[in-house]
Amino acid sequence: MKRSQFIKTLALLPVIAPAMSLNELYQISQQLPKTKRMPVLFIGHGSPMNAIETNEFSNKWKELGKQIPLPSAVLCISAHWLTRGTAVTAMEHPKTIHDFGGFPKALFDVEYPAPGNPALALETKNLIKKTAVQLDHDWGLDHGTWSIIKQMYPDAKVPVLQLSIDYYQPGSYHYDLAKELAALRDRGVLIVGSGNMVHNLGMVDFSKINESGYGYDWAHEMNAIFKKEIAARNHKALINYEQLSKSAKLAIPTPDHYYPLLYILGLQQASEEAVFFNDKAMGGSLTMTSVQFG
Ligand code: ZN
Repeated sequence: MKRSQFIKTLALLPVIAPAMSLNELYQISQQLPKTKRMPVLFIGHGSPMNAIETNEFSNKWKELGKQIPLPSAVLCISAHWLTRGTAVTAMEHPKTIHDFGGFPKALFDVEYPAPGNPALALETKNLIKKTAVQLDHDWGLDHGTWSIIKQMYPDAKVPVLQLSIDYYQPGSYHYDLAKELAALRDRGVLIVGSGNMVHNLGMVDFSKINESGYGYDWAHEMNAIFKKEIAARNHKALINYEQLSKSAKLAIPTPDHYYPLLYILGLQQASEEAVFFNDKAMGGSLTMTSVQFG
């Protein structure tokens, strides 16, 4: 093949690529048939120890794992995977990432060998038109994901994928992007946002970490505001969270743990009411408050 012909052939590739994707999509629709719409969850993950402890938070996660119809896959948006651009994990076997320090060996020993689902990763990429999503082969499951999902599905049979958070984008970007994932809910995919609404690690009072419900005034104030605005479907106010109160800066000094909530709000359908759970402050400056839609 002459060089000029070769270049012409290359130019055709973008035309060929969508056809291949359609074929892949056909295969996926066989693999993941239409289901009753799955709920979506925002879960306050708190301490990584919740992965191995039996407490009121992890008990609720276990309960959810039994209540919700068994998903075909879990797609988790974790506060602990911040990237430039948006990526989705696309490996067959995501590794368990121990992305923390200063915890007991028992926590570092945890492996959560849930499979991935490369075909679903490709479908997820194709669903998102807002940006070119990268298929990732390096990440895996960070503790924002496995600390919760391990409690929900301890046998690690359900495939788990992660979608990264483009940390260079504003709240509205995450909210809008989430809407493009809606079709996955009808294919049995459970979408989970994992973070914490109130999350100020620098101000945690570790002497009171085991005192149930202990929160500073501003943490309780912001928890009440978040719940009120979520219940009222006031998504715009929640996207522009800095304007909610003077205390917003204390509750969200950086938005990493808050952005997963915006994905779940973006997926809320008109008929779906907010159901709150694990509605508790801890350590003064954190809340575990979580919400389910659908
Ligand atoms: Zn975290």
